[in-house]
Amino acid sequence: MYKIKLLILVPILLISCKSTSEFTGYSYDPPGVTNTVDKLVYPQKRRVIGAGNPKVWVSNEDESTRMNDFYVVTKDTFEVYIKPENAPINNSPWFGFSIWSDSTRSIVLRLRYENARHRYEPKFGDQLVDSVRYDSSSGTAEFKLNLTEEPKFLSAQFRDGITYSDLVSELSEYNESFISIDTAGLSHEKRAVYQITVDETNPGIQAGVLILLSRQHPPETSGYLTYHYFLDALLDSTELARKFRSRFIIKSFPMINPDGVFNGHWRHNVGGNDLNRDWQYFNQPETRSVKDALIPLKNDSSKKVYYGIDFHSTNENIFYPINEEIVTFPDNFTQKWVSSLQKNFPELAFTIEEFDIDSPISKNWIYKTFGADALTFEVDDVLSKAEMKHLGYTSAQSLMEMLLEEWNNLNGD
Ligand SMILES: [Zn+2]
Repeated sequence: MYKIKLLILVPILLISCKSTSEFTGYSYDPPGVTNTVDKLVYPQKRRVIGAGNPKVWVSNEDESTRMNDFYVVTKDTFEVYIKPENAPINNSPWFGFSIWSDSTRSIVLRLRYENARHRYEPKFGDQLVDSVRYDSSSGTAEFKLNLTEEPKFLSAQFRDGITYSDLVSELSEYNESFISIDTAGLSHEKRAVYQITVDETNPGIQAGVLILLSRQHPPETSGYLTYHYFLDALLDSTELARKFRSRFIIKSFPMINPDGVFNGHWRHNVGGNDLNRDWQYFNQPETRSVKDALIPLKNDSSKKVYYGIDFHSTNENIFYPINEEIVTFPDNFTQKWVSSLQKNFPELAFTIEEFDIDSPISKNWIYKTFGADALTFEVDDVLSKAEMKHLGYTSAQSLMEMLLEEWNNLNGD
């Protein structure tokens, strides 16, 4: 069943912020979140650890893993200790490691977190782990695992297509002449913050621009994968997609926090900050790269930014549009888009919660810089690949139709 909950009033917390116009954080943010100057992060030690008899082994030597310690509790019960990159931090405890045994055996594995409670349902290889027992007093989770000599990943989300290396190899496969891939800038650890520009617009027209952002928060893989399906639909050879690309340029930044993804961070970059609270002062090189790549659009009279979408994940499908009372171009586009989605695709469950524009997040920067409407698109953590594909593809179809209508309203067909 689907639900529509349209909250016209901004949350109480933000009303209080509005009066001082000084945003200090959402209810789920740790204190000091908007001070984005570099903070210390504590890199995990990359290693293989063996414990028990016969021995059970774990390793965090791959990218996008996180495992800080491993030990025996009783004969068949083992514990993995997981720490964040630094604290205070939101409760999004990412974990990931490979695990195997010297001989086939069944164990009980417990996940214990520093500064957090269990959140992500564990995946073992390509299977969701069932019968996870959550202990609300300790915040731990435990479950049975059947191990063999073959290492398998135990991870907070399925590993397929989510790492930095996966992105690098995907980008090398684009060969259409209207797609260009470049490096908008470098992260703290000198990884590329990639930019994909799609430009097949007819010369001489007033081109619209659509901005797509993703993976500011490393564990939010359902938003990231949905973004991929969304972009695929825009790059398709359908009549609609071709027409869309003749009017609109797409500026896309698929992984804004490459170091956080590589190092298995819970939320922050290697500068120890939540990048989606850095869109006012731009203290971090990753957010600065994206800003520097987009800012020339502001004074380019042949181009007009129509819309921006920043893909994230949380525990439901939820759209966070800009408050209806704030005049954007196109005005209230998100509200119109979501109601059309609801009508045409009732199987996609969405909640809508409007927000004021005080917080230093990407969506508000897009509005403040270009006057365009923008959206934080939150995808449910637990969607299957088929559901993400459906969501990404169908929402892109309807977005293209509606943006083309807006383009026609402004420029004539
Ligand atoms: Zn997020």
